[in-house]
Amino acid sequence: MPAPDVSIHPSFFLPKAAQGEYRCGDIADLHQFTATWSQGDRTRTFLKVQDGCDYSCSFCTIPLARGQSRSETVARAVERARALGAEGVREIVLTGINLGDFGIAPGPRSAVGAPARVETFLDLIQALDQIPEGLRFRISSIEPNLLHPEIVEFVAGSRRFVPHFHIPLQSGSDQILGLMKRRYRRSLYADRVSLIRQCMPDAAIGVDLIVGFPGESQTDFEESYRFVQALPVDYLHVFPYSERDNTLAVSLPNPVNPGERMNRSRQLQGLSVKKRRALHERSVGQTRPVLFELADQNGEMHGFSDNYVKVSAVFDPDIAGTIINVTLGQPDANGVSTGTLHGVGVADTGGPPDGQPAKARAALLLHNASRNDAQALRTTLYQNISG
Ligand code: SF4
Repeated sequence: MPAPDVSIHPSFFLPKAAQGEYRCGDIADLHQFTATWSQGDRTRTFLKVQDGCDYSCSFCTIPLARGQSRSETVARAVERARALGAEGVREIVLTGINLGDFGIAPGPRSAVGAPARVETFLDLIQALDQIPEGLRFRISSIEPNLLHPEIVEFVAGSRRFVPHFHIPLQSGSDQILGLMKRRYRRSLYADRVSLIRQCMPDAAIGVDLIVGFPGESQTDFEESYRFVQALPVDYLHVFPYSERDNTLAVSLPNPVNPGERMNRSRQLQGLSVKKRRALHERSVGQTRPVLFELADQNGEMHGFSDNYVKVSAVFDPDIAGTIINVTLGQPDANGVSTGTLHGVGVADTGGPPDGQPAKARAALLLHNASRNDAQALRTTLYQNISG
């Protein structure tokens, strides 16, 4: 059945006063931006600041489903981030369909010429970086051609933005990138990764890859594999190509059979395991700020370091939800690190809100104290805080 050319988009749903009604129309006519954010774990929130996409990658249906690129304004994003910080959120992950394309004003477009860009992604992160509330920020995923050197350099000097980049590559073969209609070639990608490593040697770098794209010969795949193997990146998200109606890619010649797609996917997943292990191993002994989630998971709490190493510790309600400096130890078989908790991450990561540092420091001392000492220490520390 052919895919419909009309979609209902969440942005069309009306405010509460008009619940029970909805409108639908051509997605190409959708020009409003509606901010959304997750409300799961109260320490970490995904804040959408951009929607839609003006690109036309040959495998992708997102522009058909989500419409044209449009964004939140910098001012409203800052306002929302401050409100989330005041509610106790400690980390905001900035998300969008094509996040680096942030800044195209909502509203109908002119029939001719490029859409008006009123702000840039760099404007956004510079403004968020000024927020005084104890927040840190993570960039979810950004196209390599939009990850301008100024953005990398700004993150490297920021106290709020963590050193973690997720950059879709899709293929390490220029010929396949051309067939995919991607807007860069692999030399640009390698340059961006190299700049990140120069500015932030400990940054985590993740990569998206599609394998078995139509026309990807064994030689193309091997070229792609070798390119990624040589890149100093830390993990891969690998997707076997799958056909989508209404895309250019479905009509391309020389499709790769599904078994071979899976075979190539497994090879790259194996490479990803090795790269992730290398990230964990080079992190051993480093002291990194970790945001522990609030959930008690069978007596443990989990969190992520600024550079995306998963860390576990014995659950402590006074430490959960705060950013704590942890010296990372050896990862277990699942790639989860443990470590020594020994400092509240106030200075470099946007630490706990007012009133929390003393409480968190006290909790930390208790966490590391022997069972016998803990009760006496608890009494003294909490008397001092409340006094
Ligand atoms: S893959 Fe990403 S950049 Fe390309 S069209 Fe889809 S959403 Fe846009």
